[in-house]
Amino acid sequence: MANGTDYYAVLGVPSSASADEIKKQYRRLAKQYHPDANQNDPKAADRFKEISEAYNVIGDADKRKQYDDMRRLGAFGGVGGFGGGSARPSSRPSGFGTSSGPGASGGNFNDFDVGGLGGLGDLFSSMFGGGAGARSRNKGPERGQTVEQTVEVPFRVAASGGKVPVEIEVNEECAVCHGNGAAPGAQLKPCTECSGRGVISFGQGSFAVNRPCPVCMGRGSIPSERCPTCRGTGEARVRRKVLISVPAGAESGHKVRLRGQGGKGAAGGQAGDLVITFDVQSDRFYKRDGLDLIATVPINVAQATLGSRVSVRTLEGTKVAIRIPPGTSAGKRFKVPGQGIAKDGAKGDLLVEVTITVPGSLNEAQEKAMRDFAEASGLKY
Ligand SMILES: [Zn+2]
Ligand SMILES: [Zn+2]
Repeated sequence: MANGTDYYAVLGVPSSASADEIKKQYRRLAKQYHPDANQNDPKAADRFKEISEAYNVIGDADKRKQYDDMRRLGAFGGVGGFGGGSARPSSRPSGFGTSSGPGASGGNFNDFDVGGLGGLGDLFSSMFGGGAGARSRNKGPERGQTVEQTVEVPFRVAASGGKVPVEIEVNEECAVCHGNGAAPGAQLKPCTECSGRGVISFGQGSFAVNRPCPVCMGRGSIPSERCPTCRGTGEARVRRKVLISVPAGAESGHKVRLRGQGGKGAAGGQAGDLVITFDVQSDRFYKRDGLDLIATVPINVAQATLGSRVSVRTLEGTKVAIRIPPGTSAGKRFKVPGQGIAKDGAKGDLLVEVTITVPGSLNEAQEKAMRDFAEASGLKY
């Protein structure tokens, strides 16, 4: 039964094997296929990876239990795969179930359960806490995390320019262990799982994926005692306040990149960037049309008819008086030159747009005046 994920078959042990039997068998195979001992056999390295991968799961009591549960639930292509290991307890390494998978020449692709691969991916991410996102630290300086965040900008700050405080959360190197995950004074030993490389290849052929070694979390070494502050992860989640400069005339969707304001780099690496996207809030009084500001001012029907004066505040807060001529209709705009948004040397205008309000109730004198007006105009009412 071809099953690319039967770890028991990979190690050639029955699924009922004891932890000790698994360990013994792993050691025997690891020695046999260790790349150092097989420098002329490129296939040995692949075998060695398969063996390591298998032992990494079924050699660990918790992961083995999880793996067994998933096999029972059919995550790896049904009960056939489940029976495979125990039906052939004497499987020799040369009879690896994996070697007939899609990566091997002459393998029958149809035998390979791609759905099972998806299940396997989920299994790995649940086992190793999203290993794909884990950092690989043994490759020298590493750039910090790029943080992207949308920031609400008050309308007037976006129009005139100003500053907006932003709180960001970033993963930074743990200050206690400086990212190596070791408790102060602990000793570092090379990781035996990945031979100190920090990376393990999972899967075969075109399905092969390099992942940070889950045992040493990509560092290539294991501390004798974990850092108590970060529990060995080497990372700390840090909240940081940043003051963002908003250029005058900023619009929603506008992005600014602040170099080095993202997550701190590891092992002397550069800090990441902070990328801010502005989300300009609406204003009770102003709207924007390019660089022009539009302010809406309600006037009474009598003021519109007879003419009036209204006062409007500019963006800078200065009061400006506007003369409304007699016979002004709703929607008419009055321009206050140069009082719009200033950007790149250009300056917009403030456009005051009138709306006309109709009184909801009239007192006796007002009602008489309106009736007189209607009669004098020959209007029916
Ligand atoms: Zn730490
Ligand atoms: Zn490792």
